[in-house]
Amino acid sequence: MEAVQRRRVTVRGVVQGVGFRPYVYTRATGLGLAGHVTNTPEGVVAEVEGAPDAVSRFCERLAADAPPLAVVDAVDHWEVPVAGGAGFTIIASRTGGPARTLVSPDVATCADCLAELADPADRRHRHPFITCTHCGPRFTIVTGLPYDRAHTTMAAFPMCPDCAREYEDPADRRFHAQPVACPACGPRLRLLTGRPPRESSGADPVAEARRLLAAGAILAVKGLGGYHLACDATHPGAVAELRRRKARGDKPFALMARDLADVERFAHLGPEERQLLAGGVRPIVLLRRRVSADGPDGVAPRCPDLGVMLPYTPVHHLLLGLPGDPPGPRLLVMTSGN
Ligand SMILES: [Zn+2]
Ligand SMILES: [Zn+2]
Repeated sequence: MEAVQRRRVTVRGVVQGVGFRPYVYTRATGLGLAGHVTNTPEGVVAEVEGAPDAVSRFCERLAADAPPLAVVDAVDHWEVPVAGGAGFTIIASRTGGPARTLVSPDVATCADCLAELADPADRRHRHPFITCTHCGPRFTIVTGLPYDRAHTTMAAFPMCPDCAREYEDPADRRFHAQPVACPACGPRLRLLTGRPPRESSGADPVAEARRLLAAGAILAVKGLGGYHLACDATHPGAVAELRRRKARGDKPFALMARDLADVERFAHLGPEERQLLAGGVRPIVLLRRRVSADGPDGVAPRCPDLGVMLPYTPVHHLLLGLPGDPPGPRLLVMTSGN
């Protein structure tokens, strides 16, 4: 009879909300191992059982091959008594005990989600809260540890059967993605206008918001980590009014542009700037303004640099317009409204 070995493996670091359990699942099943994996306050804990060389191979490059958003601090593994049983499962999280694990920061909408957002045939076409294992809110929606749907603000939105199927399918990009939702089961976007604020009766709050922005309105946009005050950066009246209301003097405003090509029209971009602007973190990047550009003047008077970022939530992408949308603002002032 072939020898069988069982090991317990603990992984610490930024390993929750980054697709680590699905990664462990895929790796273990690929090697024909039985066992389970779970999130605990100490980190991800797995037990794998099978042929000793398969168990070794499982442990060997566990950190090196980890999903892109994971930051592994430590992997420990040791032999435990063989327990038998077939198949590999993701089991519900254990709670309690001191929290020693870290949750991933929020991550900008990924290219796959962006493609679905713009695809009329996709069931999440124009869904303002589209997300997957590789992108979306993490830190912002966590209410406790371990990182599980029950410990996020999404706990209030039970998944519909279609989302539940994706969530449970190891082959799916949304396998165990905690914020997964769709138009049928997820949060809804609302536009409040007027005084006192009332929910707009229009069918499409995004289209209406874009019309308002184009007409010079100032919008408070709820995003990750708080509100932005937004207006069309190319609308001098709107920028001046925002400056007056914020008592901002001549201080520069940060901008959100639709894409790199748009940024290039008014600012100089090197490889490093491009990488920073389009990466997963989406910081505001200080860029040297083009002298010749008929760019946004009022946003940073007499300032040689402009602070620019690219959209990082589906709502930002929708506000700046998807390919094929009617013309609207392509460059927004985005200043903190907190
Ligand atoms: Zn995604
Ligand atoms: Zn759903």
